[in-house]
Amino acid sequence: MMKTIVVDQAKSFAYAEAPIPAAGGKWVTLKVKHCAICGSDRSFWLYYGGQGFTPGHEFAGYIEDGGEYGFPKGMKVVAAEFNSCGECEYCKKGEEQRCAQMMVDNPGVSAPGAYGPYVRVRGDYVIPMPEDMPTKLGAIVEPVAVSLHGVKFLGIQPGEDVLVSGNGPIGIYAAAAAKLLGAGKVIMTGRSQSRVDFCNTFDFVDICLSVKDPEYDEKIKALTPAGGFKHIIDCVGVDDYDGLLGLAASGATVVMLGMHAPKPCFNAMSLYLKEATLKTGLYFSWADFKQAFEMVRDNQEMFLSTITSVIPAEPEAIQQAFVKLFDSGTNDECKIVIEHKD
Ligand SMILES: [Zn+2]
Ligand SMILES: [Zn+2]
Repeated sequence: MMKTIVVDQAKSFAYAEAPIPAAGGKWVTLKVKHCAICGSDRSFWLYYGGQGFTPGHEFAGYIEDGGEYGFPKGMKVVAAEFNSCGECEYCKKGEEQRCAQMMVDNPGVSAPGAYGPYVRVRGDYVIPMPEDMPTKLGAIVEPVAVSLHGVKFLGIQPGEDVLVSGNGPIGIYAAAAAKLLGAGKVIMTGRSQSRVDFCNTFDFVDICLSVKDPEYDEKIKALTPAGGFKHIIDCVGVDDYDGLLGLAASGATVVMLGMHAPKPCFNAMSLYLKEATLKTGLYFSWADFKQAFEMVRDNQEMFLSTITSVIPAEPEAIQQAFVKLFDSGTNDECKIVIEHKD
């Protein structure tokens, strides 16, 4: 048995006893070292309504039981929380994110996740980490993969400018991925001033503007290339989609990456008149995950600067982090990573 951490009721974390998940078949067991808190974990915290659940789908750690794969105990790894079938039309095309089996037994989503000390993952979705790469960086490969997946839909050519709307972690990782894929200027917008200031410290962001700045309209116009942006990625940065589409060039690609609440509306004529393409990015493929891993491995300082706190794997500490991130309205954090004891 292990002492794990669960959402035991709405907006509450507690310790609970649970069996250590067993390796076998396609599954191996990891001893979690780091697990990042994701905005999507918030839904488990807010809308809890059943047996205790352990979130955590952004993680890295050590092989505890390599099962049939024979990975040695203690091997440092990052793993995708994937459980795709490998046989359907989508899996065969490398679009695992569309596989119907993906969300079944998916650790941290529909199976116990890495807020607990051990997690069960698919052995075929494990990547060994080099010794010089901190496990906390392994924990952010997953959200970087989400952002990279959306950014790849933009089809950025070297030197072309990109507008990233929204400066939460997914927007920040989208900006980083765009720059690493050869974008020219990366212009970013966000709501909270402290987060805007934070984003202006990144080398991969040319400038981040606050949409609440009284001079925002003039400032963004001055930064918009002649004819508009060919590439716009929305990471839940605006409610005003028409305003965003107004900045798009003729023939632009706009990627929607993230869920708006309650529902974003826009005038379809804004797309039509520009022959613009609206794409959506949801989740990522295994190829995206491997590419994101390489990006993080090869740009460690860049990605370390996005981790603002490391907290102990204890219910009270996680609770405080959730209140700060999701319930305080004055969030000056970016990525918070939970650390398990060795
Ligand atoms: Zn996530
Ligand atoms: Zn499949």
